[in-house]
Amino acid sequence: MDTEDLRLAVYAAFRDGRTPRVAGLADELDVTQDEVRSGLAELATQRHVALDAHGEIAMAHPFTAVPLGFSVMGRDRLWWGGCAWDSFALPHLLSDQGPMLVATACPACSTAHAWRVDDSGPPAGAQVAHFLVPAARIWDDVVHTCARQRIFCSEACVDSWLAVEGRARGYVMDLAPRVGLVRRSPRARLRAPGAECCGRVLPQRRAVGVVLGTVSRRCRWRGATARGFRQSARVSGGNWEDPSHED
Ligand SMILES: [Zn+2]
Ligand SMILES: [Zn+2]
Repeated sequence: MDTEDLRLAVYAAFRDGRTPRVAGLADELDVTQDEVRSGLAELATQRHVALDAHGEIAMAHPFTAVPLGFSVMGRDRLWWGGCAWDSFALPHLLSDQGPMLVATACPACSTAHAWRVDDSGPPAGAQVAHFLVPAARIWDDVVHTCARQRIFCSEACVDSWLAVEGRARGYVMDLAPRVGLVRRSPRARLRAPGAECCGRVLPQRRAVGVVLGTVSRRCRWRGATARGFRQSARVSGGNWEDPSHED
């Protein structure tokens, strides 16, 4: 089994609002569950997916199979949101579902927060995002990391949550400037690390297509392409517009 076929099946399931499971993937690809498990293990080492203790998919960024504090409701489907980055990437990845309703609750005081988000601009809000785990440690346990990348009412709520949790302050960012990164020029967005293909900068729209399997995957660097997409989504909140790229 080509692990690229497996990766595309995983993303196709998430795109359709389904949770990809080992048994279902084996049926779909007409392979054994052991083959799927070993393929997923390989994808996990490449950071395409994060697996739970049973070898099932916990996350395939920006999608998550497990609740991490956010929900994202589209036109006719509902997803868990991964974290303060991943949740806002979904409306850009699934533009046919927009505008989408991204919702969460402040971890400190439980105040509910929600934003209507499409792919045309950043949401408004006075909230702040807090990132507990330093960037260099994100992949030590990425599900733990995403579960602790949350949105709070204010810095005061961040401080009270940290006091209760007994944790040191991480990185705090205002909501508007963070998501406002999508307003950067396309060229600036394309400088996101890894967003390259065959040595050339890869337009975000095409990177999304590769991730979801909606465009050709002839490119021999498609693995790097997918990683580039995820990093771009995280950096920019996603915004897929720019000149075409030919494999
Ligand atoms: Zn609060
Ligand atoms: Zn995340």
